[in-house]
Amino acid sequence: MPSLDRAKLLIRDVPDFPQPGILFKDITPMLGDSQAFRDVLDSLEERLRGRAIDRIIAIESRGFIFGAPLADRLRIGLSPVRKLGKLPYQTDRIEYALEYGTGVLEAHVDAVRPGERVAIVDDLLATGGTAWAASQLVRKQQGIVAAYLFVVELRFLKGRDRLGGDVDALIDY
Ligand code: AMP
Repeated sequence: MPSLDRAKLLIRDVPDFPQPGILFKDITPMLGDSQAFRDVLDSLEERLRGRAIDRIIAIESRGFIFGAPLADRLRIGLSPVRKLGKLPYQTDRIEYALEYGTGVLEAHVDAVRPGERVAIVDDLLATGGTAWAASQLVRKQQGIVAAYLFVVELRFLKGRDRLGGDVDALIDY
């Protein structure tokens, strides 16, 4: 297992972004460092390698950064889950609670085949609302959520309890 010390040092705290009171975990310095980024991808790959996973479901937009190379390494397909209005073909959609108000996520109607086992991937787990919404889209298409995988988890927000099942993150705060 690669050490994630370097990656952890390169995740920057940005206070009051995108709104007052939020401490934003900015992963861009980590992405800009080839060693740290590779360490993170190696660790994500290790968590899923050898498991029965048919597809990566990557959540817009930072989930794409990790989900796409991970799908390539595991030689499986990737389906994006996006915010309302971005996907061109017919979609399934779900409304979910955000910190203030609600959001809508969409997946193409053929994102998941019935019976497929998927891993839902995003950069960060906070309250779990976003990943939960993605899981509902997978279930609507009769897929099985075999794993949730995040780079960062904000443990004190207890998103893990909301998701249940197999939840894993590389770096917790
Ligand atoms: P949640 O639905 O509360 O689990 O929030 C997770 C989503 O919001 C992920 O797509 C994250 O990228 C983003 N997010 C929430 N809180 C933060 C934070 N403190 N720093 C960076 N991204 C965050």
